[in-house]
Amino acid sequence: MACYRCPVCDYVYDETKGAPREGFPPGTPWAQIPDDWCCPDCGVREKIDFEMTGVSA
Ligand SMILES: [Zn+2]
Repeated sequence: MACYRCPVCDYVYDETKGAPREGFPPGTPWAQIPDDWCCPDCGVREKIDFEMTGVSA
């Protein structure tokens, strides 16, 4: 599973952890995140702006 980082605020979406407060349970793959989803921390960037930052075990 991979991690994706917001280029503005460094919020990281980790597929292994998901984003429960956003409604994405742990293990939700990035591909299932809606394209119009915005960064929950800064709200400035959308999914397409996030950068793959690595792979977690
Ligand atoms: Zn952000």
